[in-house]
Amino acid sequence: MKLYPLFADLAGRRVLVVGGGAVAERKAAMLLEAGAAVVVGAPSISPALAAWAAAGRINLRAGEFEDAWLDACWLVIAATGEPLLNRRIATLAARRRLFVNVVDDAELSSFQVPAVIDRAPVTIAISSGGAAPVLARLLRERLEAWLDPALGPLAALAARWRARIRRRLPELGARRRFYERLLTGAVPALLRRGQPALAEAEAERLLADSPVASVGSVTLVGAGPGDPGLLTLRGHRALHEADVILYDRLVSPEVLALARRDAERVEVGKEAGNHHVTQERIHELMLAHARAGHRVVRLKGGDPFVFGRGGEELEYLRAHGVPYEVVPGITAALACAAYAGVPLTHRDHAQSVRLVTAHCRRSHDTVDWAALAQERQTLAVYMGVSELATLQERLLIHGRAPATPFALVENGSRPEQRVVTGTLARLPQLAQAHAVRSPALLILGEVAALAPALAWFGEPPLGEAAPAGVSSIAMSASASAR
Ligand code: SAH
Repeated sequence: MKLYPLFADLAGRRVLVVGGGAVAERKAAMLLEAGAAVVVGAPSISPALAAWAAAGRINLRAGEFEDAWLDACWLVIAATGEPLLNRRIATLAARRRLFVNVVDDAELSSFQVPAVIDRAPVTIAISSGGAAPVLARLLRERLEAWLDPALGPLAALAARWRARIRRRLPELGARRRFYERLLTGAVPALLRRGQPALAEAEAERLLADSPVASVGSVTLVGAGPGDPGLLTLRGHRALHEADVILYDRLVSPEVLALARRDAERVEVGKEAGNHHVTQERIHELMLAHARAGHRVVRLKGGDPFVFGRGGEELEYLRAHGVPYEVVPGITAALACAAYAGVPLTHRDHAQSVRLVTAHCRRSHDTVDWAALAQERQTLAVYMGVSELATLQERLLIHGRAPATPFALVENGSRPEQRVVTGTLARLPQLAQAHAVRSPALLILGEVAALAPALAWFGEPPLGEAAPAGVSSIAMSASASAR
């Protein structure tokens, strides 16, 4: 069930609670806090409810439930503890198109009461869609512990200052930046320490110092290989502050989901062989948005400076006087190695690593193949899926042993990761047999022999011939583990 979350203004509105026990009492208390005109109906009621009625805080309907109790109500809560009666109330309420909550019965309820964290004026409501109320309560406890106790006073301060802030900073972008500075840093810290007067003074100073027009900028952010856990904290933060996000095809949806909700997202995807937005166009977009005062995040798979054309983009921004920053990311070589259990260097097997691309602006012949073919080093080859045969041929010609192991990692760090292992002698054949597709990264070198034994993520590596090979690899894995 997919629920639509909403916060209802119940001030002065009549709400009926049917039931007179402890549960009804709790529900009535919450409704009173929201200022509702609470009516409680039951044949007998708890002492607390009786006291509230005597004090005029709630209205009573004594006796068995009647349809007429629903007259003029906005909401109904059935807390009778009697399933048949609860069902009748739900049916009658539905007939009148009244929202009804039957306590602990998601099926009969047309609205649910969430678990709530109260940092007035901030309210956080959590729902598990009726699936597991205990889970929602557990989450609430965790959030309670994690949330800044100064949140309430901070929101109240922001409310007091709102009109002034709007007057001084009419431009939305400038105002948003100001709020970010107001709501993080010194002001909440002072409130937390119980120094509201100093907090006000600090807010005053911030507002006076705030630029009236927003200055655009571009941040190149490395999104990592796919697993959102591999995004850096700074990258996460930049995504939160972005007005516009220009992202590549390789960026995973899970990473993109961490960005600010109302940021404009523009896919400028580049896939192998399909440059559907040209680099020039990306440059123009960055410049146009930055000049409009936006904070642009240029979000790239892996790291922006590893085969990501980040260098060209910075040159362009610099030439046009746009301020920029760079947030590194976990590049595919590091991620694929880690998630395939292949250490890129190893005291016994490899003393250096090279990051290479099989697919250059110019031809293969600018590559120093003799150097790449040396032993006891690891090659991490990007963008190579369609060039594996050429790669194999050149490396063999230049003396790399046919028995050199490789691990080919497709969709590294993603749930659908696959790893194919084998030796250089059969590299293109194995890649074809297992239909390896982009994005895939080739790790070639002595260290790749460790993949079957050290793999820990996803399915075990695929080897020589598809089904039979799996078991022989598994055997050699356990043999070398011993
Ligand atoms: N800037 C990126 C590389 C961009 S080039 C980085 O630092 O990772 C694109 C190539 O990166 C792909 O063709 C593939 O070889 C590699 N790649 C990127 N993400 C990958 C992933 N999740 N799994 C395997 N290879 C990946």
